[in-house]
Amino acid sequence: MKNSKNLKIDNSYAEKLYEISEKCPPKGFKKAEILLRNYSLAKELGFDKSFVDSDECLNIFAGNNLLENSIPIAQGYSGHQFGHFNPQLGDGRAILLGEINKMDIQLKGIGQTPYSRRGDGKSALSPVLREYMISEFMHALKIPTTRSLFAMKTNEDVQRETTLPGGVLTRIAKSHIRIGTFEYARTKNIQILKTLADYSIDRHYSDLKDTDNKYLSFFAGVCDKQASLVSKWMSIGFIHGVMNTDNMAISGETIDYGPCAFMDKYNPKTVFSSIDHSGRYSYHNQPAILIWNLAKFAETLIPLIDEDNEISIKKLTEILHHTMPLYQEYFYKEFAEKLGLQTIDNKNVKIIDNYLKILHSESIDFTLSFRNLAKIVDKSITIEDSVFSKSGVFTKWYKSWKKEINISNVSQQMNLKNPCYIPRNHLIEIALKNGVDGDMTKINLITKLLESPFIEKDGYEKYTMPSSSDERYITYCGT
Ligand code: AMP
Ligand code: MG
Repeated sequence: MKNSKNLKIDNSYAEKLYEISEKCPPKGFKKAEILLRNYSLAKELGFDKSFVDSDECLNIFAGNNLLENSIPIAQGYSGHQFGHFNPQLGDGRAILLGEINKMDIQLKGIGQTPYSRRGDGKSALSPVLREYMISEFMHALKIPTTRSLFAMKTNEDVQRETTLPGGVLTRIAKSHIRIGTFEYARTKNIQILKTLADYSIDRHYSDLKDTDNKYLSFFAGVCDKQASLVSKWMSIGFIHGVMNTDNMAISGETIDYGPCAFMDKYNPKTVFSSIDHSGRYSYHNQPAILIWNLAKFAETLIPLIDEDNEISIKKLTEILHHTMPLYQEYFYKEFAEKLGLQTIDNKNVKIIDNYLKILHSESIDFTLSFRNLAKIVDKSITIEDSVFSKSGVFTKWYKSWKKEINISNVSQQMNLKNPCYIPRNHLIEIALKNGVDGDMTKINLITKLLESPFIEKDGYEKYTMPSSSDERYITYCGT
């Protein structure tokens, strides 16, 4: 596609779910410029490079010009935030332009919408750049996620605690339907709820359309996708940070990269978010919170499953009860792969558990440990030179592990599963600071390294290492 005239945009959500969304053309940012362009994602969407580099493109994604046939909307949703129900959330700072190739095209930080409440609808530049880097890293790891097409600098200020440069992210998603969207539809009426469920099934679970009780199968489908997703988060030390029901997509994609961060030293209680005082969304609570959120989702579906509420509840509960064991299966599958273990039997489960115990008791860097282990087994480093050097029990564990693996190719296999580069908190912070000050060198470099996170490149050792400081890293929701 050379220009926007050839670009076909659909508005299926705006057309079918007009009762839970609001039409809302963006006001736009006249002085905006694009700082990060995702050419490969643009290609997947059918844009060619000359269009991506054009002013026409800039003006569309800065919200200055509308695509032909686009019906821009803000989507309504509710949500349980830190356990408390808020019926009236919605896209307070995001506008959906429509769908291209069945993918949502959304501008985040684009200004006020009917759901803005007291907010300005805008976003600071730093979290826009941060979401771009982290979401694209998740994609590089093949973890389902919303994507980032453009990161823009608006060249206008936003007022937070201080005055900050503003930004807009073009977010691409399979859809932006959240558990919170169902909670919102439920506050309306059953017909709207049913339309939303049918629409979601059509868009994300079309193979369930003709099953016996498609709404029940739909619930099971979402439970399965989410259990798999959270197991993948756990496998890379990802802490989402704000697993409210409005931040969980029914497509099974990771969404909302506000206060997320990656664990460095392995400690299951790790929390980064400044507002998560009780550790509700800590690393090891993520699976339990997932089940809690899915229970909220189940509640919204009660009227669709059976005329008799008791029967509905019974059927939904059965599936919910299956979801934690399902999650555990996924979890051990992920960790078995990380450790190059071929099977998941009781013995190997114990090997995985014991490995994590060592990381915990010795405060070992989670990400680095797996790469070090691969180097120990292929003899490129010794235990003494590794992160395990201080552990008295590692050698015993190592022997038990070695019996279960295929030594000839285990390190190659492990290195395909365990990234050497992750968005290291201390490095990302410096890069963002530079980026906001106008120097994108470090952001461009980190973005490039994170595109192929399994391949160690000479000269970039520093990017594989944790911070030398013991200071706790704190993240903020504020955008
Ligand atoms: P989040 O923390 O990103 O999950 O957002 C929670 C809710 O606050 C959503 O309904 C957002 O749309 C809304 N929100 C966050 N920031 C703003 C803002 N600057 N202006 C208006 N609404 C906002
Ligand atoms: Mg959100």
